[in-house]
Amino acid sequence: MLIPEALEEKARRGRPREACGVVGLFGVKDAAAVAALGLHALQHRGQESAGVASCLNGEFFLHRDMGLVANVFGKGEARKLPGFSAIGHVRYSTAGGSRLVNAQPLLASYVGGTVALAHNGNLCGGDDLSRALLEKGALLQTSTDSELFLHLLAQRHALADEEIAGVFAGAGAAFAVVLLLGDRLLAARDPWGFRPLALGRLEGGVVIASESCAFDQMGAVFEREIDPGEMLICSAGGERSLRFGESATLLAKCLLELIYFSRPDSFVFGHSPHIFRKSSGHALAREHPVRADLVVAIPDSGFSAAMGFADELGLPVDRGLIRNHYVGRSFIAPGQEARTAAVRMKHNVVREVVRGKRVVLVDDSLIRGTTTAALGKELRDAGASEVHLRIACPPTRYPCLYGVDFPHPQELMAFRYSLDEICSILNMDSLAYLSLEGMLALFPPEERGFCTACWSGEYRA
Ligand code: SF4
Repeated sequence: MLIPEALEEKARRGRPREACGVVGLFGVKDAAAVAALGLHALQHRGQESAGVASCLNGEFFLHRDMGLVANVFGKGEARKLPGFSAIGHVRYSTAGGSRLVNAQPLLASYVGGTVALAHNGNLCGGDDLSRALLEKGALLQTSTDSELFLHLLAQRHALADEEIAGVFAGAGAAFAVVLLLGDRLLAARDPWGFRPLALGRLEGGVVIASESCAFDQMGAVFEREIDPGEMLICSAGGERSLRFGESATLLAKCLLELIYFSRPDSFVFGHSPHIFRKSSGHALAREHPVRADLVVAIPDSGFSAAMGFADELGLPVDRGLIRNHYVGRSFIAPGQEARTAAVRMKHNVVREVVRGKRVVLVDDSLIRGTTTAALGKELRDAGASEVHLRIACPPTRYPCLYGVDFPHPQELMAFRYSLDEICSILNMDSLAYLSLEGMLALFPPEERGFCTACWSGEYRA
């Protein structure tokens, strides 16, 4: 299947596509400091910038900067933001968009007062909407889609909760948003449910986070997920929910959240990502067994799937590869040679584990293949007699338009090459992916409202 021209063009332009994390708190002491704690747990969702906005008696306070949460809030900056309500954001680094002006939360004033916003996702109609706003004379201050929410609120004079829900209903996909107003906190998820958003409790107050692992960090207790098409309103008068969109027929929860993106210790879309990944390893082993002596995970992404794979075949799983966690994401490597050198900096082989062994190398996904190719060679150089590659999801062939930053399709191995070609390029003895049917069969039929666009090319929104 070919990628529709418009979609390929969108991917080529490399419009910043945030894969971000958000938190929100209402009725919590030292809300900003607690928000910063939660952002630490969501650091894997974005390393480019971090920020927190708080509100006290209608006055807003904001601190945001480029860098990791520990750098941005390492000197107690969050404690200087007073109030019992706050929102926070971590942002993923994307080429061209890595500027302080794009850091969130965004703060603006409109007829409804001051509003702070933190957004995870990517608005599919964002380019057209930006153009239309510019033609009408609007001043855009950032190059993110997130700012468009603020313009829509202002344009429509959206004051009442029902009017704000109307703005969300017309925004398209994809978003999980927290919005802080002078007297209330709103949390909303698009009707397709692409991005996760969870609700918890802390000291009688409300806590919202992209993933439940943030609640553990903040000392909060998970209650439930915000539903697709739900806007939760938290105010001094209590809580209520408004529904918008036709969520029941449209669900498209991002399956990559469960496969790769969310932390294994979170609870996302009703599942533990770790348990799901282990199940995918079991299914992969049933579909594509291999005679081998040892299963080795590509760290850290392949750990859970490798455990399931080894368990299914009764094989030992061992740490044949070690990852250096101190090589930060700041080590950006343009070009193939530099990327290969970067892989060597990040991973090393435990020779004593793999020498003379037939190794099954397991990972959760295969995107560019750079890391995998380099690791296959390292394993052989260290004495592995065979290296078989098993991938716990289907071939990734298409870009994501819903908030996960992907390479251009031409850089996706499975878009450019056949299975045999990939196996030969990666110098593997064999290669197999978990089928899409096999992956979806891990869920009961009533639960299959997932987006699979990056494997199937079927875009639901
Ligand atoms: S295209 Fe892939 S990464 Fe994007 S939302 Fe769908 S499943 Fe998730």
